[in-house]
Amino acid sequence: MKKAVILGERRAGLAEVPDPQPKEDWALVRVLVAPMCTEYKMFVGGHRAEFLGHEAAGEVAAVAQPCRVKPGDRVVVMPQYPCGTCPLCLAGEYIHCENCPDFAGFTGSSEGSATYAQYLLKPSWLLPRVPDGVSYEHASLACCALGPAFGAFDLMGVDAFDTVLITGLGPVGLGGVVNARYRGACVIGVESHPWRVERAKELGAAAVLDPNDPDCLRQIRDLTGGRGVDKALDCSGVPAAHRLCIDAARRKGHVAFVGECGDETRIRVSPDMIRKGLTLHGSWHYNLALVPAVMKVIVESQAVLDRLISHVFPMSRIQEAFETSASHDCAKILLKPWE
Ligand SMILES: [Zn+2]
Ligand SMILES: [Zn+2]
Repeated sequence: MKKAVILGERRAGLAEVPDPQPKEDWALVRVLVAPMCTEYKMFVGGHRAEFLGHEAAGEVAAVAQPCRVKPGDRVVVMPQYPCGTCPLCLAGEYIHCENCPDFAGFTGSSEGSATYAQYLLKPSWLLPRVPDGVSYEHASLACCALGPAFGAFDLMGVDAFDTVLITGLGPVGLGGVVNARYRGACVIGVESHPWRVERAKELGAAAVLDPNDPDCLRQIRDLTGGRGVDKALDCSGVPAAHRLCIDAARRKGHVAFVGECGDETRIRVSPDMIRKGLTLHGSWHYNLALVPAVMKVIVESQAVLDRLISHVFPMSRIQEAFETSASHDCAKILLKPWE
């Protein structure tokens, strides 16, 4: 099969490798759509990488034994390789699995572990069906385009009475705009990149503010009658944005963090949490039991989803796809591994 690789700084290409083989209840999936995510950071940083991508939708190509899927099934690929048996996996919180098996140790090779490829392997319990009438392109948004915000909004109970602040309007934050509007909430976005500001407004954000404006916090308060937002979601991973979410949330409000961050954010226990009564959530993905609800968002938002997808590239044009991803003039970018 063919797969995409990063060869060096701002250089990507294709490689030919052996097809992976299904084993036990790990099915072989023919990848028809592979959304791009944070991999562009390795492309820009010049980190050679042979196994790229964790998001996909496709068709079951083969199974090794009777399992939860059969050849021909249209499926979405859930992320990671969790054990399926630890308490967190059993509770649907597989993303936090305490006992992930070694992929190559189980299958005999690392091929099949990445989604920027024509085939991948996945435990069959992590391959939910794509509803009839939903395209592979739209179904693939159940991964990181809509997933992180969906999980965070579920934790925070976002509904039509809420004004939600979303900081960082890359593909995850734009997916947050779609999710918030689906739930009937009013969205205030924070983003500096002009392309993304415009796209957030098209997707239904009521206002998009500039994080570099020193007046940003006051503007959020003005837009909320002086109270602050009910819920806030950070998708940027920037400590200043974390602080903005905490400071802009109203008393007894909620803040969720989904943007990855290696730096420290200062949180003051008394004024931020005890006296203000804030609830802070860390959220990575969504519980497996919520898959039908995520699919419902997709089924009922199809007209909007074509604006959440900004580019579709054949995988043969991986260099151009990465350059577009690195430019930030994009929402979600989809790769077609067979084109
Ligand atoms: Zn587990
Ligand atoms: Zn992702």
